[in-house]
Amino acid sequence: MVFQLTPEQEVIRDAVREFGEAEIRPVAAAYEDDQRYPADLLEAAAALDLVAPHVPEAYGGAGMDAISTLLVTEELWRADPGVGGSIAAADFGTGMLLEYGEEWMCETWLPKITAGETPIATGISEPAHGSNVAGMETRAEKSEARSASEQSGEAAEKDGDEWVIDGQKMWITNGTVADVAIVMAKTSPGDGHRGITAFLTPTDVDGYEATTITNKLGIEAQDTAEIVLDGLRVPDENVVGEVDRGFYQLMDFFGPARADVAAQATGVAQAALEEAIDYAGEREQFGGPIADFQAIGHTIAEMATNVEAARSLTYRAGAALESGDDALATKLASMAKLFASERAVEVTDDALQVHGGAGYVADHPVERFYRDARITKLYDGTSEIQKNIIADHLL
Ligand SMILES: Cc1cc2nc3c(=O)[nH]c(=O)nc-3n(C[C@H](O)[C@H](O)[C@H](O)COP(=O)(O)OP(=O)(O)OC[C@H]3O[C@@H](n4cnc5c(N)ncnc54)[C@H](O)[C@@H]3O)c2cc1C
Repeated sequence: MVFQLTPEQEVIRDAVREFGEAEIRPVAAAYEDDQRYPADLLEAAAALDLVAPHVPEAYGGAGMDAISTLLVTEELWRADPGVGGSIAAADFGTGMLLEYGEEWMCETWLPKITAGETPIATGISEPAHGSNVAGMETRAEKSEARSASEQSGEAAEKDGDEWVIDGQKMWITNGTVADVAIVMAKTSPGDGHRGITAFLTPTDVDGYEATTITNKLGIEAQDTAEIVLDGLRVPDENVVGEVDRGFYQLMDFFGPARADVAAQATGVAQAALEEAIDYAGEREQFGGPIADFQAIGHTIAEMATNVEAARSLTYRAGAALESGDDALATKLASMAKLFASERAVEVTDDALQVHGGAGYVADHPVERFYRDARITKLYDGTSEIQKNIIADHLL
């Protein structure tokens, strides 16, 4: 149980906060308006060890513990969910590499990611299959099997050292800006969740075509892509983990990823709370600051309580991840994601309400926070899916 940050964790939080306020806040609106990926800020953040900070020092990371890693995400999102969020999301896949990847994969890619040279993408969702991961249709076949099935009559190519991947991935964070991606595909299509495999692929190869999805509701500086995989060839050595074990690997991957979304939600809610407190002190109606109205005070009290509760649950999930108790960590990560994301949507809405009409236009960051917070209820498993997971643990 964690009641207080360690002095080291406080130093980390303060350093990210300083970076966020000096480097991200002043430029965030411009990046968001232009829907521009902040590659330059990714490098600046990497110089301070803020990109993929959980990665061990041997691969260029900072080797941070789970709670420190969550603090980094929280503060980056407090600065700005689109720009700071791009920096936090640059590691979306490193957990899978560290846990299941071969040494050469980690040595080749993790130093580039931690240096801010490239983010990593992970392609799970598809146009027709989001929540139902096991339903994915993207197929990977050994080249000999494919040759045999495609070229009946002709001599089949019998090398068998490559996988050929065909399919489509949807909503993939970093899809167009990452030099490397983990792609999930069916290798035993008749076996449902027991037939999925993870593949590592560079993105500058034939058969990988990513297109940016524009006009999102929020987190506009983040890169989100649709990816067409058309005969993408991947050597056998690029299987991450074990063939047909990808679904189980994903379940491990999602624990820290969901705690991370809880930290994102806490960060944007904290930012909205601070804006509301400032505005309530400045804005005057009926001859005094609106902060003097009990209704505003109560709203801010509820917002602050929700943020604090979300933060506590998020850190508790972090402590469970650190403890190695996988069952507890999975449950708490889902609870933290569910609670923090639902509260973030409420708190950012409250902040907008405190701003009155001024909150409805882009002049105030609360307008952006209100839109940005919404994604946390959707990705890495919707709120409904988190409830299913939590219920499964309890019943
Ligand atoms: C900006 C953004 C970034 C993303 N980044 C990534 C990424 O990097 N990689 C990646 O693979 N994916 C990514 N996603 C995809 C995201 O994880 C999915 O959108 C999400 O899992 C939901 O899937 P879906 O959109 O297909 O919705 P659906 O699965 O079609 O769900 C529609 C509705 O039905 C509900 N529902 C579905 N099944 C159940 C059930 N069993 N019980 C109760 N309710 C249910 C859902 O909760 C939801 O309300 C991203 C999405 C967005 C918008």
